[in-house]
Amino acid sequence: MNDAVADEVVDLCRDLIRIDTTNTGDNATSAGERVAAEYVATRLDEVGIDARIYESAPGRANVLARIPGADPGRGALLVHGHLDVVPADASEWSVHPFSGEIRDGYLWGRGAVDMKDFDAMVLAVVRRWRREGVTPPRDIVLAFTADEEAGSDYGARYLVNEHPEELAGCTEAIGEVGGFSYSVSDDLRLYLIETAEKGIEWLRLVARGRPGHGSMVHDDNAVTALAEAVARLGRHRFPVVVTPTVRAFLTEVCELLDIELDPDDPETAIAKLGPISAIIGATIRNTANPTGLTAGYKHNVIPGRASATIDCRTLPGQSELFVEQLREVIGPDLDIEYVQRQPALETGFDGALVDAMAAALRAEDPGARAVPYMLSGGTDAKAFHTLGIRCFGFAPLRLPPDLNFAALFHGIDERVPVDGLRFGVSVLDRFLRNC
Ligand SMILES: [Zn+2]
Repeated sequence: MNDAVADEVVDLCRDLIRIDTTNTGDNATSAGERVAAEYVATRLDEVGIDARIYESAPGRANVLARIPGADPGRGALLVHGHLDVVPADASEWSVHPFSGEIRDGYLWGRGAVDMKDFDAMVLAVVRRWRREGVTPPRDIVLAFTADEEAGSDYGARYLVNEHPEELAGCTEAIGEVGGFSYSVSDDLRLYLIETAEKGIEWLRLVARGRPGHGSMVHDDNAVTALAEAVARLGRHRFPVVVTPTVRAFLTEVCELLDIELDPDDPETAIAKLGPISAIIGATIRNTANPTGLTAGYKHNVIPGRASATIDCRTLPGQSELFVEQLREVIGPDLDIEYVQRQPALETGFDGALVDAMAAALRAEDPGARAVPYMLSGGTDAKAFHTLGIRCFGFAPLRLPPDLNFAALFHGIDERVPVDGLRFGVSVLDRFLRNC
């Protein structure tokens, strides 16, 4: 990788961080995405790549571009990154979250790892290609999206529904969250490639009872019924199910770290993995976390209705079973209303694209070993997958061994190692030339 490209990726990422693209979930206050989209489109237009901006609502903007490949007969590769970020409270941070400050070898700011780092890498690579006359082996479709942080309705989902022609012919995709390193020793690093994502089941539990006066004997109280069910659910642990992706990951990592893996009790082994155990531990069972309670309007009035929001995440293929499991825990009386349902994804860790990822990582880091893993959260991949696109999380980053990477996502003092960013752009360049 020449230095000019390695420098440019840092500048691009810095510029993007300085554009406040906070996604509040409210269109009136999420207009920064339009500014970022124009920035991206300009960087592409500058080097002769025709970029199109699609607004799903005023200020909610997405950028699409297609780079023709040497063999148009092959399916295209979709390379996607979101431009929005979650809110940041400046008073909690060591630097201003939209300053893009470089300090102690890190570029700091909201979006540094989620995911303006990757957006910048993609821009740096294709700009280099245009300057040097590089043609990729097949068509590459670039998508920079709005609204990933609030469910993708104004971003990836909008594109899939309203502009599928832009995604025509795409058979595979890369995006967040994967390709980052996990250090085993000085000369061995695992790079976690995301081949699976848990499903999203955001639901509302509703208890109904008899309204009444708060001073009287009352045995049909909606608040009491809801509270009992929510408490049971919040403390419940669903059964452990180890899917092929998680089994492949655990087998490899436990062998390398010399950790004993008991197939009947993977949790003991997972607990020894350090900071990533929070993600991995969430991928061996369905989960249901209560996140909100709503009931009542006056201290001395028993309301007729009480509701709770529950964030449920399901393993691949478990969506229907999960409803039965949930019903068993909460009992027969509460209503279940779905707020959002997105199925889990899981694909195999095989094929030419996976080989190209592993080879690109090894070429830039001789101690690299690529392993598949399942993300406990969700990404734009869920939307793109509905078009039949095989999706991977591959946004390469080499990380210092002591960095708690998972905690940086949506966290305070989000930052990306400058060296990691330079490494990532080299891997991405190499990978995309061989995709
Ligand atoms: Zn993200």
